[in-house]
Amino acid sequence: MRTATGDRKKGHEDGLFKTKGRVSLRALFSGLVILTFLMTLVITLFASYRSEQRLLEDRTLEANFRESERVGHAMNLLFVSIGKSLSAFAGEFAEMAVLRASTRTQDELRLLYDSGGYFAEVFAAGADGKLIATYEGGKQGGKAMDIDAAVMNEALGAKLQFQSQPYRDVHGGVAIMITEPIFTEKGIYLGIIGGVLHLESPNVLGGLFGENQIDASGSYAYIVDAKGKLAYHPDKSRTGQDVADNPAVMHLLRGESGKQKLINSQGDMYLVGYTYVPATRWGIVAQTPTSLITAQQLEQMRGTLLVVLGPFLILAASALFLARRLAAPFVSLADFVVRAADRPQDEAMPSVRRHWNREADLLNRAVMRTVREMKRQNRDLNDFALKDPLTGLLNRRALDEVLEKMEGDNRPFALLLIDIDRFKSVNDRHGHSAGDEVLRSVARTLEETVGNRDLCGRYGGEEFIVLLPGRNLPETYEMAERLRLAVAAHENALRIPVTLSIGGAISPMQSTRIDDLFELADRALYRAKESGRNRVVV
Ligand code: GH3
Ligand code: MG
Ligand code: MG
Repeated sequence: MRTATGDRKKGHEDGLFKTKGRVSLRALFSGLVILTFLMTLVITLFASYRSEQRLLEDRTLEANFRESERVGHAMNLLFVSIGKSLSAFAGEFAEMAVLRASTRTQDELRLLYDSGGYFAEVFAAGADGKLIATYEGGKQGGKAMDIDAAVMNEALGAKLQFQSQPYRDVHGGVAIMITEPIFTEKGIYLGIIGGVLHLESPNVLGGLFGENQIDASGSYAYIVDAKGKLAYHPDKSRTGQDVADNPAVMHLLRGESGKQKLINSQGDMYLVGYTYVPATRWGIVAQTPTSLITAQQLEQMRGTLLVVLGPFLILAASALFLARRLAAPFVSLADFVVRAADRPQDEAMPSVRRHWNREADLLNRAVMRTVREMKRQNRDLNDFALKDPLTGLLNRRALDEVLEKMEGDNRPFALLLIDIDRFKSVNDRHGHSAGDEVLRSVARTLEETVGNRDLCGRYGGEEFIVLLPGRNLPETYEMAERLRLAVAAHENALRIPVTLSIGGAISPMQSTRIDDLFELADRALYRAKESGRNRVVV
């Protein structure tokens, strides 16, 4: 679109060729290609991101649920077996009929302590709540530091197998107490035996959760008790916190297990799996923050982008190149047509180049042919309007136009009026067509004799005009003489001798007005005829 812009601005006020606000084909093609590639890239990445996200979330939810189930199942087994073991030992104590501090009592407690390895301390207490014997890891009759009096009272009152809610013991750790009542055969309530577990000890939860409480994927698990309080959390400061409003915990409090995506009390989104543990009425929750999955995915996408970008850029560049090549013939054709329309007289026609695109090639050639035809018709019309058909010289109309222009330009020039001598007798003697031939022959001789910048025209009948730009008097006279002699010397096809009489006038020496110059030249011609013809008068 570079060419012909200047001409367009000059030549057309009608706005036909104004291109402001119009999009060029090349820009359109390029824009389309780039847009298509960008959109494809974005859509592909987005689609893969979404489908992967769903997959990853489903997989994580399932994994968390399985983990909570695994831990829940293990915990259930643990507490059921603790319960069974306590029942068995309670039976042993019942056989003794009385509960007192004896070697047998100590032996039984030691056995109970060693049987599972999960108790921090075991004890036997009378129905009045008085501790009869305790055992903690080799120390008989310890100080019973781990036994909470309030919990003990609760246990005594229960008269059934009892398991306390988690509580903070004197060491600040989370403890639970499990007890079994002792009844004699006759149903007399002797007291309880029981033990205290330290929830966070490696023997208890270490066995359930394994070494790493937060795994490599950022997932972690926690335990809620039957009242919706955190019994265990990797963030120890949160132990005891009420989380009953957590959607997963609500399900657990109703005894349900499952998995779901949720926003927790801290306002973070998690993928959560949870399992209800019947033996303790607790819940195990395993969860992964979604932010971790998103980060993982973004990392993955960066990798994908790096792999895809190279080929994508190459592809886009190729498409861009092709689009530009495709647009090229239409661009040059448009430029050409604008040039042709702007300067219809311009004879120059660019050579038609073949194009590999069929439509472009057809259009190219069709337009070239049309423009060539248009130019030819234009030329013919021009000739018809401005040229004398017999001699091919400028006709009167063309001459008038040229003269008018010369008058306006104020440039010096000479005007010669030329008349063939006794032409009537040529017609009379040799016939009209012979006369025509003489006219043609004279015209050709005139044309051949004048200079490059001089103009010859037929003014009518056997009268001619020659315009000589930039000539002074002697130069004008000299040229007129040359013309007269040339015609006289020229032997035409019919060997009819022809002579000329020539009258001249010079602008601005004699006048600058065309009418005056004609008048002067005509008078000079008259004098040439009068004084014997075949001569020049200026
Ligand atoms: P003079 O020397 O005084 O000019 O004599 P002349 O015979 O040339 O003068 P005149 O003007 O009387 O005659 C002009 C003749 O030119 C008359 C006409 O028949 C002839 N003529 C004009 N136009 C044409 C033409 O197109 N073809 C032919 N063959 N003759 C033409
Ligand atoms: Mg005449
Ligand atoms: Mg004549």
